[in-house]
Amino acid sequence: MGSVTTTDVINPATGAVFTTVPSLDPAATDAAIERAQRAFPAWRAVAPGDRARLLRRFAAVVDQHLEELAELEVRNAGHTIGNARWEAGNVRDVLDYYAGAPERLSGRQIPVAGGLDVTFHEPLGVVGIIVPWNFPMPIAGWGFAPALAAGNTVVLKPAELTPLTAIRLGELALEAGLPEDVFQIVPGKGSVVGRRFVTHPAVRKICFTGSTEVGKGIMAGAADQVKRVTLELGGKSANIVFADADLEKAAASAPSSVFDNAGQDCCARSRLLVQESVYDKFLSLLEPAVKSFRVEEPSNATAEMGPLISAGHRETVASYVEGSDLAFAGAAPQGDGWWFPPTVLLAHSTADRHWREEVFGPVLSVLPFKDEDDAVRLANDTEYGLSGSLWTRDLGRALRVSRSVETGALSVNSHSSVRYWTPFGGMKQSGLGRELGPDALLSFTDVKNVFLAMGD
Ligand code: NAP
Ligand code: MG
Repeated sequence: MGSVTTTDVINPATGAVFTTVPSLDPAATDAAIERAQRAFPAWRAVAPGDRARLLRRFAAVVDQHLEELAELEVRNAGHTIGNARWEAGNVRDVLDYYAGAPERLSGRQIPVAGGLDVTFHEPLGVVGIIVPWNFPMPIAGWGFAPALAAGNTVVLKPAELTPLTAIRLGELALEAGLPEDVFQIVPGKGSVVGRRFVTHPAVRKICFTGSTEVGKGIMAGAADQVKRVTLELGGKSANIVFADADLEKAAASAPSSVFDNAGQDCCARSRLLVQESVYDKFLSLLEPAVKSFRVEEPSNATAEMGPLISAGHRETVASYVEGSDLAFAGAAPQGDGWWFPPTVLLAHSTADRHWREEVFGPVLSVLPFKDEDDAVRLANDTEYGLSGSLWTRDLGRALRVSRSVETGALSVNSHSSVRYWTPFGGMKQSGLGRELGPDALLSFTDVKNVFLAMGD
């Protein structure tokens, strides 16, 4: 059995508690994992075409509830309504994309003497997905859609701060006809539910997104059972602006590349590197773009940014700004809720704390560079390597710098967001493995090689 307590769910735009959700203890977590284990043989045996059809139906049910899911996220996470609609749509699209996988999960036939050699991509069993609070819906979908498509059953732990959309997605899966216990939401604390995913032997893989610190602990814990892990961790991505770039375009787009989702984005371009010959000009173009960035009640259609997730997080973000060299800042609502204005800080060296550490808030650090080598050196002077952008009209330079910056994803003359059909993940301490795109599915499987002797 196991007992269940409850956690308060708070609207970060007002600071008010508006509902409570269950928080499971270790025994209740074990019970969920064991139900997932029992559901696995029948789920892996569902014919590929039928599994595909169920996932497509799940996508369609998500689409029918898009507005409801988006509104839940506005309330629970303070996301702007525009972003929240995109996020719910992303769950639908990722389900649709991986719904194409079951019938295409082919192995190989490898030539051998005396028989037939074939490979199979076998599902792993129960997959545990641990989700952070910053993008509750997309990050859940990037794990559960390919995991289910490959024939695994899933237990998913949402962040304690933002459990509502995950819980609703679990209900919608059942409404779409997924069998009981194939996809279960297990709300509770990381130190309880998340930890049990790592230690319970029936969970064969952990798909974790969150801080580098917790991710390292999960990787260490997984070693005990040689449990598979995919880790999507922190970032401190660079936005590199060369003197020959379209400076107006680069300056107009820089604010959203770091302030979107109030900067609570592992891909935030939070380090701005500007070539010194255009440094002053670029900052003068950036200032009006930052000051006009609209921070307001996130359910307003015009909102570009809402509040931070919690009071504690706002204190952490503020600690990076206090005592730092402020270039300029935008405006934010006063009063209730965890509001913080878009803020631009001047870095004096790469040792500055706000330049080195992931702030995870609407704070941009700026530093000038001399030339291409200097830009690459400064961009790579970090333990992270998740994302980044560079701006130049020189095609050769765009290619050279793209190949030299140690990061899992880069955009040239844009700040492309994550596309579900291209790979996403980090180099260095930003992560291990890749999500999304054509290959992610295979990380939810193990290859089995079978040799059949022909006989005489
Ligand atoms: P976090 O503290 O690492 O938490 C992430 C998730 O792990 C939450 O569900 C949390 O549960 C759980 N957790 C905490 N301790 C655990 C443990 N000992 N064992 C198992 N699970 C545990 O991160 P956060 O504060 O929520 O999110 C911010 C961080 O996530 C940032 O550093 C950001 O860069 C990173 N992030 C990375 C990506 C990416 O794709 N690379 C995406 C989003 C966020 P609780 O409910 O108890 O907190
Ligand atoms: Mg945390």
